[in-house]
Amino acid sequence: MDTMLAAVYHGPHDIRLEEVPVPQPGPGEAMMRVRAASICATDLRIFNHGHFKIPEGAVRILGHELAGEIVAVGEQVTYLAPGTRVAVVPNVGCGVCWECVQGNNNLCPDYDAFGITLDGGFAEYILITAPAVQQGNVIEIPDSLSFEEAALNEPLSCCYNAQQTCRLAPGETMVIIGAGPIGLMHLLLARYSGAGQVIVSEVQEDRARQAAEFGADLVVDPRKQDLREAVLKVTGGRGADVVIVAVGSAVLQEQAVELAARRGRVNFFAGLAAGHNRACVNSNWIHYGQVTVTGTTGSNYRQYRQTVQMLASGRLSLQSLVTAKRSLQEVEAALADAASGEHLKVVFIP
Ligand SMILES: [Zn+2]
Ligand SMILES: [Zn+2]
Repeated sequence: MDTMLAAVYHGPHDIRLEEVPVPQPGPGEAMMRVRAASICATDLRIFNHGHFKIPEGAVRILGHELAGEIVAVGEQVTYLAPGTRVAVVPNVGCGVCWECVQGNNNLCPDYDAFGITLDGGFAEYILITAPAVQQGNVIEIPDSLSFEEAALNEPLSCCYNAQQTCRLAPGETMVIIGAGPIGLMHLLLARYSGAGQVIVSEVQEDRARQAAEFGADLVVDPRKQDLREAVLKVTGGRGADVVIVAVGSAVLQEQAVELAARRGRVNFFAGLAAGHNRACVNSNWIHYGQVTVTGTTGSNYRQYRQTVQMLASGRLSLQSLVTAKRSLQEVEAALADAASGEHLKVVFIP
C-alpha cells in the first residue's frame, strides 16, 4: 500500500510526523494533492487545548486552510478531473438543516470540517468526501492564483463574511482592533472594497508598523493614545461606520461599541475563551445611536467563492502575508513559528 507523510494530531501537545496510507477515492469522492496548507490560530488552539469535536483518543490530520491539485476522482464525480487546481471550503454542512438549505453551511449545527472532524491538509494528500464534492466545497482556481493565496482564501472569506454583515459602503471609515494576520486581511479587504479611512489599533510595535505598510491611514497604540479620541478626531466627531474586533477580548468588545458612529456597525470577529465570554456593553450607545452589533463565524460557500474571485482578479493579494514556508518534516518548527507572534501566516508546502 502506498503511504504518505502526514502531521498527525494525537492529543494536546502531541503532533507526530507519520507515514500513513494514501487515501483512495471511492464513488463520489476525490483525492487532492495538498500544495499549500496554512496554519490558523484554530490549529494552535487545538494543538494546545484539543477540540470538542475531536474525542479523546482520536487521531486527526489538522489543517483547514488548504489548496492543491486533484489527482484522482471516484466514480460519479463529473466536475473535477486529475490536474484541476482547487481550493477547498473546510466546513461541510449536513445539507438538509434550516441553515444549510439557505446556503449558510458555516452555521450548520451538525457540520463536518476538514482538519477538525475529517482529516485535513497537513499531509501530502487529502480525501475529499462525497458530501463535500457534491455540495461544492471544491472550487477550481485559475492558474494565475498561487496555491498559497488560495489556501489563505479561507480566513479571507471569513473576514468578508464580517464586512458583508457590517454592510461596509465605499467611503466609510473602518476601525480594526488588532493587527495580526486577520486584522491585516480585514485591512486589505476594506481597501479593496473602497473604504475611506481605515484606522488600526495595535499595541505591538512591529505589528503596528506592518499595519502602516499594509495601507492603514492611521495606526493607534491605545496604551499611548486614547483610541476613541483619535477616531473622533479624524471623523469630525462622528465615530467609525464599521468597527471590527479581531482580538478575543471582552474589554475590547466593550470599547469597540463606543467607537461606532450613529448607525455604525460593530463586528465581534474573534471569539472569547469559555468562562470569559461576558462583555458589559453600553447599551444606551447602541439604543440612541441605532448601532448594530454583529458577530460572524467562518464563511459560507458563496462568500468563499466571492473572495476567490477577488484574489483571481489580481487586485487583492495576500502574498505578503506569507512570511514562512515549511515542509511537513518541519512541523514542530512551523507550529512554533506560528505561535511566536513574529510571523503573519506560516504555510506548509508538503
Ligand atoms: Zn482558520
Ligand atoms: Zn446543516
